[in-house]
Amino acid sequence: MTHADYTMWMSLALDDMLTPEERRTLEQHLSRCPSCRALWEEWRQIDLKMRAIPMQAAPPGFAAQVEARLRAHELRRRGIAGGLLALIGSTIIWSALLIASGLAGVWWLAHHPQVLIQCARFLITAITAVSMLIRAAALLWEGLMASPLQPLFLAYVSFLLVLAILWAYVIRWHRPGANSGAGRRLVP
Ligand SMILES: [Zn+2]
Repeated sequence: MTHADYTMWMSLALDDMLTPEERRTLEQHLSRCPSCRALWEEWRQIDLKMRAIPMQAAPPGFAAQVEARLRAHELRRRGIAGGLLALIGSTIIWSALLIASGLAGVWWLAHHPQVLIQCARFLITAITAVSMLIRAAALLWEGLMASPLQPLFLAYVSFLLVLAILWAYVIRWHRPGANSGAGRRLVP
């Protein structure tokens, strides 16, 4: 018995069309299943109201409303499983797409070796340039540290540091709402 079956039985129960045995089974499920119980309570209230005014016909669209509720009930049950399925599906599709484009890229590079060579050359040039820059900076630093100007340089750096901290405070003071990354705002 699925929840949908019990939902059908609820409808039959309201019309007194269940055997005592079926009725007992339904009651047992209702005591265990909160969502079915909520639906049952809702339907019973509607049924009571309908019986209280026997001469009055069901309001227009009542059947459609009940049917819509049934459908919504089922959709809610399937929603979680459906979401998981969609997530797994899209993960598989995107992974496949990524692998395919990666393979296509490798295949294309294999058929265009000159591009690969150009890339390698560019990479080597870039690495050489960066290492030269680092070397130059290291030499400059060593020179400064060795020179008689060292105390002056350190004082200058300390002054800049204090200025930066003060500036950060000024910025924060003017923007009480900003509580993070004052240093970032130093960049114009
Ligand atoms: Zn149920």
